[in-house]
Amino acid sequence: MSSVKCLYCDKTIESFTLRSLLLKKDELCPDCRKKLKVTRKRIDLGEFQVETFFDYEGLFRDLLLQYKECHDEALKDVFLYDLKEYLGLRYHGYHLLCIPSSFKKREERGFDHLKAIFRTVQLVPLEGLKMKREITQEGKDLVQRRLMESNYIYNGPNVDKILLADDIMTTGSTLKGAFSCVKSHARKVKVISLAYKNITLHL
Ligand SMILES: [Zn+2]
Repeated sequence: MSSVKCLYCDKTIESFTLRSLLLKKDELCPDCRKKLKVTRKRIDLGEFQVETFFDYEGLFRDLLLQYKECHDEALKDVFLYDLKEYLGLRYHGYHLLCIPSSFKKREERGFDHLKAIFRTVQLVPLEGLKMKREITQEGKDLVQRRLMESNYIYNGPNVDKILLADDIMTTGSTLKGAFSCVKSHARKVKVISLAYKNITLHL
């Protein structure tokens, strides 16, 4: 097997797990993979619940920042390496609708970071969710976050079931906004976010 370097720590990956031999090679070394711990949570937002998979801290946070802010597109597959089969089965029959980034951010990155992450999940993608006004994630205070709740429009098709997906959930304002836009366009809407950032711990 040719030598492969860990995308995070740059060490040559010498040991391979059974999973990585049988399925797709992991692009993280076993040490980094172990540190990227899946901690599944269910966050109740009243009208709906959000299933989350990582805490926004440590290695997960470093990787996501490198991917999103340093535009390191090669990292796209590391986040769902352990989760893509689960998501495909758990949400079988759902259309996948990713929360859009601002136009400015997409231009800067040159790729749609969330769609790229979720591309490996076997769900039919759905389009049509848009921001009314361009608000980027940085510097958003709680008041601006609340504005996000009315900042989406959906002009896509009606489908049976929609799975809304985001990367980081903090107050849930983005997801609440997106949920209220799409709920009348599907019989069922479920919501997931890669990570949960508990702001009571970060303020
Ligand atoms: Zn590593």
